[in-house]
Amino acid sequence: MSLIKESVLALNEYRVTQHGARIKLNQNESPYTIPEELRVQIIDRLSKVSWNRYPSLDSAPLADAIAGYSQFPVSGISIGNGSNEMIQSIMLAACDTRDRVVVVTPGFSIYPRVAGVIGADLCSVPLDQDFHFDIPALIDASSNARLVIFSSPNNPTGTAIDVDMIEEIVRNVQGLLVVDEAYYEFSRVTARCLIKKYPNLVIIRTMSKAFSMAGLRLGYVLGQPEVIRAINRAKLPFSVDIFTQLAGEVLMENAGMVIKHVDEIINERERIFLELDIIRGVIPVPSSTNFILFELEDIDAREIYEALFNEGILVRVFNDERLKKFLRVTTGTPRENDIFLERIKSIIGRKRGEI
Ligand code: PMP
Repeated sequence: MSLIKESVLALNEYRVTQHGARIKLNQNESPYTIPEELRVQIIDRLSKVSWNRYPSLDSAPLADAIAGYSQFPVSGISIGNGSNEMIQSIMLAACDTRDRVVVVTPGFSIYPRVAGVIGADLCSVPLDQDFHFDIPALIDASSNARLVIFSSPNNPTGTAIDVDMIEEIVRNVQGLLVVDEAYYEFSRVTARCLIKKYPNLVIIRTMSKAFSMAGLRLGYVLGQPEVIRAINRAKLPFSVDIFTQLAGEVLMENAGMVIKHVDEIINERERIFLELDIIRGVIPVPSSTNFILFELEDIDAREIYEALFNEGILVRVFNDERLKKFLRVTTGTPRENDIFLERIKSIIGRKRGEI
């Protein structure tokens, strides 16, 4: 007898290159760390609390701060160790083995991974040719689903779905619709207003992107109180440690200062788009996030990835068939973006024998 269940043995290991690059543009992180004065404040507060005691179960002060920022009642908020934990808790709360889970492809890899661990019946709905959501196909696949989950804007394509289309979907699904708004601060579009009307809608957010907190792991969910209480039952207690809770509080209380870079990142994203667009054979996908997916029409994407890596620039390369010709670049600082653009132009030029 196998020690581990088949559905888990069938999964690939989660891998991402994290080391060795001067300019790291592969994980959609913020290029800016938390401002020094806030770091000092966090460490000061941390030095005054008891490390020998368990953290607060409901993270009440943090929940209050998130409620203020999200303009959402505290009773409708659940907080977790990164939004990845919330994805897992929601799926564990909603799905049994063989329940149908609907995702879109290409999409965020954690959804099919957790569905695989549960042994759910995964149904993947392809995005259309331009990486837009295929609403009729999604509704069709979702009618008897236990759970439908996608990110909007979507990772890794950067494309988003309108709120009225989300309403169209939520009206047509019996199960839970989970909209992951990890990139909300960059798209500035949210389906939050629909939650009041639809008890089967929940929204996931993260502090890993615009809030520069990827290293500390903090995510949260917005939903109707009854659904939130049910999700909390499936979640491990104490998963958000005191350090993360304190950091989250300080960052939320100073949200304006922490996310002041968002405007610059959006402008830089648009600049990268335009600059990539003028390179022959490069087709960027319009994005509402802090990254851009781009196609290399007639040059091998992995070769460009490796050439960039050899020059100290790390971007994201993909194994799946549909994205074989694509790379994804996260928006860095203006200087990092300049270097990336200058290097990719020169590498492609060299490959074409133009230099
Ligand atoms: N959802 C999406 C769509 C993401 O792209 C990511 C991070 N790449 C996450 C969730 C995970 O975020 P966290 O760091 O909060 O676990």
